[in-house]
Amino acid sequence: MRTVDLIARKRDGEELSSEEIAFFVREYAAGAIPDYQAAALLMAVYLRGMNRRETVDLTLAMAHSGEMLDLHDVVSGTDMAPRIVDKHSSGGVGDKTSLAVLPLVAACGVPVGKMSGRGLGSSGGTLDKMEAFAGWSPDLSLEQFKRQLRDIGLVLAGQTADLAPADGKLYALRDVTATVSSRALIAASIMSKKLAAGADAIVLDVKAGSGAFMPTVAAAEDLARLMVEIGAAAGREVVALISDMNQPLGHAVGNALEVKEAIATLRGGGPDDFWRHCLTVAATMVRLAGAAATQDEARALIEAARADGRGLAKLRQLVVAQGGDGRQVDDPARLPQARYVEPIEATGSGYVAAMDTGDLGWVCVRCGGGRLVKSDKIDPAVGFLLTAKIGDRIEKGQVIGEIHAHDDMTLQQAQRDIPAALTLSAAPVTPPPLFYATINGNDELRTTNEERIPGARVFHS
Ligand code: URA
Repeated sequence: MRTVDLIARKRDGEELSSEEIAFFVREYAAGAIPDYQAAALLMAVYLRGMNRRETVDLTLAMAHSGEMLDLHDVVSGTDMAPRIVDKHSSGGVGDKTSLAVLPLVAACGVPVGKMSGRGLGSSGGTLDKMEAFAGWSPDLSLEQFKRQLRDIGLVLAGQTADLAPADGKLYALRDVTATVSSRALIAASIMSKKLAAGADAIVLDVKAGSGAFMPTVAAAEDLARLMVEIGAAAGREVVALISDMNQPLGHAVGNALEVKEAIATLRGGGPDDFWRHCLTVAATMVRLAGAAATQDEARALIEAARADGRGLAKLRQLVVAQGGDGRQVDDPARLPQARYVEPIEATGSGYVAAMDTGDLGWVCVRCGGGRLVKSDKIDPAVGFLLTAKIGDRIEKGQVIGEIHAHDDMTLQQAQRDIPAALTLSAAPVTPPPLFYATINGNDELRTTNEERIPGARVFHS
């Protein structure tokens, strides 16, 4: 088999066979296919797409490129819940959900074994955020992964030579070749990691909007359905929450800034939208694990774990267990700080009607908070806080946030670009809901538990 033939066939819109897909994944993971050919094939897939069968084949080949973990022995005989849960976001701006949700869920006695990713395009990545903690590492051997799950009930790893190595390589290549927002590539990337990490139940946070890879709710639902089906076929219980990404989640965008916001949230503060989002995701995980009979009961458990500090203590355990400096959890001022912190001022008056959230994400990348080429080193300190939200009334000259930068040029550029990403309207604007829908294993659409959130769409099966 020759890679060039696969590229040509996909370029011409043909279907790749299961054997061809397995060949590509195996040989690329083994280093036998160069990046330039892999990039060409990714672009052909991006432009031509993959059908359901091809996407499932790609997912399974990527999952099996390393070990497939079975963690049941690890948690049996402990006082943790018997079902292991995981979550994954399809990617967004200011999406630091995992940093708050995972410790809260683990603090409720539900074991969480998660494989995360790095920043991708304009979207941040959990591993980059966690690396704002000095010394913290996502590179765990399988033994370490299992031991830590057993010891503290929470582990957060990256793709390694043992775990989903094909995704590790393809992910980094997609990030810098403009091939991220493909339904097939996202589904295979996310679900290969989830299947390999061995959780019984998985909550997918599939984002829709201007800062998401899926711009519309319909596209997000389509991606969610595909991933739920792949999970169900592999014997996992998967629930997808379709959530809004038409504005950054919370206020902070940028690695250390987002870590600080997650810590503030675990301490009982933090932006309200971010906390309500976390509460729903975390409660869904606890319910799927069987640790609560209803979503309301699960929410109460999560609220209690936040109120009495168990969630924050669990985050500290996670940081220390993976080599990080726990003092930065106790005192977030010890996290990396940028040289310049300057205000962002509104350039007009009116109601915030929309945001180009992808552009906001790119502002952070250009400040050094993300990668433009594979070898770029992340600057954890840079980014911005944006306190204005869709629906807010703002006045020209009003301070709507602050920029954290290391040099004058990116600072000034960000001061221009951030207000420019906001669309203002003379008439009042209704804010978007946090969630639009839930998609479960029966492909049934129904309301989330977010009836309380104004504007949430109601689906009937
Ligand atoms: N998260 C992933 O792990 N992969 C993607 O492609 C997008 C989000």
